[in-house]
Amino acid sequence: MGKIFAFHGGIHPPENKKQSTRAPIRLAPIPSHLTVPLQQHIGAPAKPCVKPGQHVLKGQEIALAQGKISTSIHAPSSGTIIEVGPKPVPHASGLSAPCIVIETDGLDTWIDHEGLSDYTQIKRGELIDYIRHHGVSGMGGAGFPTDVKLHLGDDHIINTLVINAAECEPYITADDMLLRERADQVVSGIEIINYLLKPTHILIGIEDNKAHAIRVLEEAVRNSSISIDIAVVPTKYPSGGEKQLIKLLTGVEVPNGKIPADVGIVCQNVGTAAAIHNAVIHGIPLISRIVTVTGDAVKKPQNVEALIGTPFETLLKTADLQENKLSRLVMGGPMMGFTIDDRQIPVIKTSNCIIAATNEEMPPAPPALACIRCGLCEQVCPAELLPQQLHWFAKSRELDKAKHHNLFDCIECGACSYVCPSNIPLVQYYRYAKNEIREEEAEQRKAEQARQRFEARQARLEQEKVDKENRRRERAEQAAKAQKAKQDAPTPEPTASPSTPADQLKKLKTAAAIARTKLKKAQTALDKAQADGTGDIAELGLQLQQAEKASSDAQNAFETAEKTAATSTPAAPDLKQLKTQAAVARTKLKKAQQALKNAEDKGQDGIIELRSTLSELEAKAATAQKAFEAAEQSNNATVPGESPKLQGLKEDVEKAKATLAKAEKALANAIASGSPAADKMKAGVEKLIAKYQTAQQAYDTEANSAVESPTAATQEATPVDMKALKQNVSIMRTKLKKAEKTLSETDVDSQEATALKEEIARLTTLHNDAKHALDAIEAKQQADAAAKGIDLKQLKIDAAMARAAVTKAERAIKRHHEAEPGVEAASLEASLLAAQQHAEQLNKTLSQFE
Ligand code: SF4
Ligand code: SF4
Repeated sequence: MGKIFAFHGGIHPPENKKQSTRAPIRLAPIPSHLTVPLQQHIGAPAKPCVKPGQHVLKGQEIALAQGKISTSIHAPSSGTIIEVGPKPVPHASGLSAPCIVIETDGLDTWIDHEGLSDYTQIKRGELIDYIRHHGVSGMGGAGFPTDVKLHLGDDHIINTLVINAAECEPYITADDMLLRERADQVVSGIEIINYLLKPTHILIGIEDNKAHAIRVLEEAVRNSSISIDIAVVPTKYPSGGEKQLIKLLTGVEVPNGKIPADVGIVCQNVGTAAAIHNAVIHGIPLISRIVTVTGDAVKKPQNVEALIGTPFETLLKTADLQENKLSRLVMGGPMMGFTIDDRQIPVIKTSNCIIAATNEEMPPAPPALACIRCGLCEQVCPAELLPQQLHWFAKSRELDKAKHHNLFDCIECGACSYVCPSNIPLVQYYRYAKNEIREEEAEQRKAEQARQRFEARQARLEQEKVDKENRRRERAEQAAKAQKAKQDAPTPEPTASPSTPADQLKKLKTAAAIARTKLKKAQTALDKAQADGTGDIAELGLQLQQAEKASSDAQNAFETAEKTAATSTPAAPDLKQLKTQAAVARTKLKKAQQALKNAEDKGQDGIIELRSTLSELEAKAATAQKAFEAAEQSNNATVPGESPKLQGLKEDVEKAKATLAKAEKALANAIASGSPAADKMKAGVEKLIAKYQTAQQAYDTEANSAVESPTAATQEATPVDMKALKQNVSIMRTKLKKAEKTLSETDVDSQEATALKEEIARLTTLHNDAKHALDAIEAKQQADAAAKGIDLKQLKIDAAMARAAVTKAERAIKRHHEAEPGVEAASLEASLLAAQQHAEQLNKTLSQFE
């Protein structure tokens, strides 16, 4: 046996252990109902994989480990699942937690199970996983999943394995009895841990009040294939505390806030070692444990092997509870345990003791008095804390200070409360303060997570913007390339537009006008011949008749066509014309008002007529204004900013965005509350993000294509008065020049010069803005035309030349008639008609872009 060290503090409360070690371990009866909590360990609760009504066999997995720190749960006996829901569980808070309730069938039928014939042939990771799925978690303390501690070898160098057999708390003898009766199982479990962790030194720490167990253990260790040291330590509470036992056996102090693995040590309980043996060698999951049932209120204090989920009531009956003596029921030992009221609370993997105490045995705590600063608590504290200080900090809610005084190093051993002469329930204060701090930290974590989510979302949106811009740029580049390719290709001849009703009407109007001209000419020729007495008057008369008929026919044809067009396709209101008409009507009205005022002032005649005219003009002005406003409204209504398809896509995007925001919010809440649904919701949110991105992409594509290739509707949606714009630029330029000229003639130091300079600056800005706008529109017009394979500049030249050709033809006809009145100039008129048609066609093409 090596050297034994010492730890600070500690106490020697009455042991009260002998009562329960007189009888061997008994098997507790199978109760009619087993209530199996889903969380019997530290970490995430297991997830049920059975449903009410389902029949299960003993050892069958009924809930699966979830996440990294968790462990599986198995059916302790065969029966039917009758409920999955909240039930009271062993916890100081007395709260309920999710449980699986099994109605046992009494047959205790096992599921097929088999251990590993040679675990050394299995990979380390697989063996650890095997242990995890056999539900093994720490049986001596808080119930830390054992596989997590066995994984520590991955990122920690484990030098020493400490096996905790100290069992220092009064009354509890579960480990003692386990060693007395099943030491070989414990040693076998240690051998498996040794295989997994490969420590250089293995130590079993056991208090010297367990002579029987030490003897049996020594025998088992001698038979083992590995080297294990048994270190017998003096009986002192709490030598079974993890850090205290490590200090006792190795002299190493685990620093504040660190775990033993950080100093190369792993500590496991003897019960856990036995559970590992059962799982690996026999394939038996952790479905039962040894529980000490003791206290002066039971006739037969003893240790029982109870199935997990067995109500305490069943165990108390087994130990022959004397109801009349029972004063208090304690789960755990008298130092660290807590009082329970509900006897239906089930045994879980960490339940090591039930004490049915009489009033004399555990009298009610006397009232707490003020701290007298005696310092006894500090002397006994094994964690070397300042319990009285921590008490003050907890009481005054100075939680930060309590934390900085290492509150979380307190193992809640209760030694300080035990010695306090003022009966202050110190541990309760520490538990309260720890809970408050944990809640505050959870809130802070929640806030931090929310902040991170927000920032991630912002980053995502920024990225989406960048991606969108990149996509848009790509498309623009492709469009530019396509346009260039078109420009490089031979320019097609502008194709003749199909003849529309409006074209027909125009042609008929021209034909009627020409016919009228001919008629006039025929009339003039006849009149001249009759007046001069020259020429063939009969022939000229005939020509006049023919011209009259032709003119009448052409006029009728035009009027008929005009009527048809007016009834079948009402012309779209010409906004500009209506505006002019309204303005003219207003001007006339003003003039009439002025005339009436003058007449009234001067007492002239005709005032009544003037008033009547004024009323008529008022009515006309109002009608003209109404017509203009109505046309303007209808124009706006028929020219929406976005096409219906684009609007639909926009709605889709908005909808997807709203759904995503909702889902993200729900996910944030789920994560913050630790809901097991969070993983599923995360997948849902990812799907919604994809949906939103698809909708956004569809919208962007449509919007960009609308910009790059505007439809007639969108072209009309932004009508530009090019003439007005050009005029504006010209006016600005003239004003600017005038102002510059005036400035050049003005005294440079005068106030007028300063004002002129300001005016020039203003006009320059206005001129440049107007010029830029004009240039941009012209560039766009050129690009639009180029996209259709048309050179706009050339088209404008062609149109101007065509107009000039019309004027030339008209002049030629005029000259001909002047030179030879009454003589037909059919070829000239045909040329005029052709020139007019060509000019019309070019103007029409041009109007598409202007
Ligand atoms: S033992 Fe009790 S009375 Fe004494 S210092 Fe500690 S808290 Fe105060
Ligand atoms: S309960 Fe905490 S403060 Fe009190 S003695 Fe134990 S470790 Fe120290």
